[in-house]
Amino acid sequence: MTSRHSREPTATPAGGQDLVRTGPPEPVGAQDRARAARLAERFAEVYGHVPDGVWRAPGRVNLIGEHTDYNEGFVLPFAIDRSAMVAVRLRRDTGTGVGGRDVVELASTYAPDGSGLSRAGFPVAGPAPGSVPGWGAYPAGVVSVLTGLDDVTVPGFELLLDSTVPVGAGLSSSHAVEVATMVALDDLLGLGLDRPAMARMTQRAENEFVGAPTGIMDQSASLMGRTGSALFLDCRSLATELVPLPVAEHGLRVLVIDTKVAHSHADGGYAARRATCERAAAALGVDSLRDVPAETDLGALDEESARRVRHVLTENRRVLQCVQLLRKGDVAGVGDLLTASHASLRDDYEVSCPELDLAVDTALTAGALGARMTGGGFGGSAIALVPAAREEQVRDAVLRGFADVGPAAPDIFTVLPADGAGRVPE
Ligand code: ADP
Ligand code: MG
Repeated sequence: MTSRHSREPTATPAGGQDLVRTGPPEPVGAQDRARAARLAERFAEVYGHVPDGVWRAPGRVNLIGEHTDYNEGFVLPFAIDRSAMVAVRLRRDTGTGVGGRDVVELASTYAPDGSGLSRAGFPVAGPAPGSVPGWGAYPAGVVSVLTGLDDVTVPGFELLLDSTVPVGAGLSSSHAVEVATMVALDDLLGLGLDRPAMARMTQRAENEFVGAPTGIMDQSASLMGRTGSALFLDCRSLATELVPLPVAEHGLRVLVIDTKVAHSHADGGYAARRATCERAAAALGVDSLRDVPAETDLGALDEESARRVRHVLTENRRVLQCVQLLRKGDVAGVGDLLTASHASLRDDYEVSCPELDLAVDTALTAGALGARMTGGGFGGSAIALVPAAREEQVRDAVLRGFADVGPAAPDIFTVLPADGAGRVPE
C-alpha cells in the first residue's frame, strides 16, 4: 500500500478480527423486548401462528467519512437506536402455491397509502433480479444470495416487518431491512455466517438484486455496531475497529435533522461523482484516490476534478483525526471536524443542497459544536453535535430557520450509538 495514510499506525483499524471472534452483540433493552413482543402478537394475527423469533437490525448515521467509501478510504459510522424488526417463521408445510413451503410471504407495518399493511411475496426458488417489485426486493435479494451458497437451501417463510428507521432519510432503512432478514435466516437455518461475511452478502443483495451501487459501510455499521461506539472501517481492507463514542456520558447529543427533501438529481449526481473520482485516479496513475499522497500537485487535473479529489483526500484525513480524538476520549473535539467535512462536501464535492446548508448553519449559530450533512447528499439528513443544555435551543433555531423559508418542517430527533443486529431475546 502506498498511501500516506496507510503508512500511519492510526490508519489501520485495530480490532476488526476481534469482532469476528467475539460474535454477535446481544441486543437487549426493555424497550426492544416490548416492541418485539408486540410484533410477535401482530404476526400471530396476520399469519395465524406464532413466529419462530424476532430479530432486529439498526439504521446508521455516518459520523464522518462521506463519499470516501467507493474511493477505498475510511468511514466512521455508528448503528443507531432505531431499527427494523422482523418476526419470522419458516414454513414447515408441504406443497406449492400460497401457504406452501416454497413461498415467501412478507408484510410490513409501513404502508404510506394508509392500507394498514404493505404485502409482498415471491417464490423461494431463485427469485430473479427485477422480478420482485417494491420493498420485497430487499428480502428477496438476501434469499437470492443465500440460495447461491453451496449446501444452503432456503425454505419458504413468513415475515412481518416493523421499522423505526425513517424511510428515505439517509439513515439506511433499506439496509436495516436486508440485514434483519439476513440475521434471521442465518440464525434459523443455522448457517453460522460471521459478520463480515453477512456484510458482504447483503452488499451483493443490494448491488446485484436491488440494483443499487452502494458500498459496504451501511451493512457493516448495522451488523457490527456496538452501544457507545462508532465503527472505524477501512473500505479497502474491510478491517474494522470499534472506537468509543460516549456522547451521553459527555453531556452531548447527536441530533438528526431530517430535511425530508430528496432532490431528483441525487442518483445522477452520485454516479457522476464516482465517475469523476475514477477518471481522476487514472489520470494520477493510482488504482483509487486512497493512494494519492497528501502532497500531490493536483494541477494536472481540471479545476472541478481537483476539488473533488481534494474533498476525498481531506475527508480521509478528517476521519483519521476524528478516530484519534475519540480514542483519547475527546468527543466534543470532533465538532470542528464535522463542520469542516460539511464545508468540503458543500464547496469541493458539491453534494449538499440549500436545505442541508440551512440545517447546518442554523444549528451552528444556535450553539452546536459541529454539524454536517450525512449520507450521499442532495437531501436527506444532517447531524449536529450539541451540548445537552443547548438541545432545545438548537431544535428551535433550526425549526425557525425552516419556517422562515417555506412550509416544509424538518423532523428533528436524537440518536445514540447502539448495538448491531441480532435476535431479540424473549
Ligand atoms: P434509505 O436512505 O432510508 O435507505 P432508500 O431509498 O435506500 O432510503 O430505501 C428506502 C426503501 O427501503 C423503501 O422505499 C422501501 O422499499 C424499503 N423500506 C425501508 N423500510 C421499510 C419498511 N419499514 N417497510 C417496507 N419497506 C421498507
Ligand atoms: Mg438505502
